[in-house]
Amino acid sequence: MNKLSWLLNQIVELRLNPTNECIEWPYSANRGGYGQVYFQGTTRRVHRIAYEMYYGQTATKLVLHKCDNPRCFNPLHLYNGTHQQNADDITIRNRRDMPIGSAVANSRLTEWQVIQIIQLLDEGKALRKIAQQFPVSYQAVWDIKRGVTWTHLPRPWQEAE
Ligand SMILES: [Zn+2]
Repeated sequence: MNKLSWLLNQIVELRLNPTNECIEWPYSANRGGYGQVYFQGTTRRVHRIAYEMYYGQTATKLVLHKCDNPRCFNPLHLYNGTHQQNADDITIRNRRDMPIGSAVANSRLTEWQVIQIIQLLDEGKALRKIAQQFPVSYQAVWDIKRGVTWTHLPRPWQEAE
């Protein structure tokens, strides 16, 4: 039996006989401890697949753990959370569920720099001046201002709308 079949069987079993115990992925895990499985040409996170299989819907956001056990894929311990919730969780637990912000390849700014840029924009500093201060283009600062990049970081001016 392959891993995905095993997972499918587990999910079916959990639907029939739900449990509050953690169900841990016995196969390979990534560095963060999250169970992973390879299919359709890429490495997938087991808990995300489990969520989608169990609830029969695409996870539109991050799939997060309530139990703080990255190997666990018990769907009752998972929820489809927001980036903000995840950011809060990172602050609390100091680890990530998936690459966002500075962890994304080719990102030229760190999370902290973008937070500083957002702060400067909020203070009304000119985009051109900010672009001189950080290793980014005017366009990149403009994109941060409009909220098209680094979307997981809250913009104070968006809240006021
Ligand atoms: Zn669990």
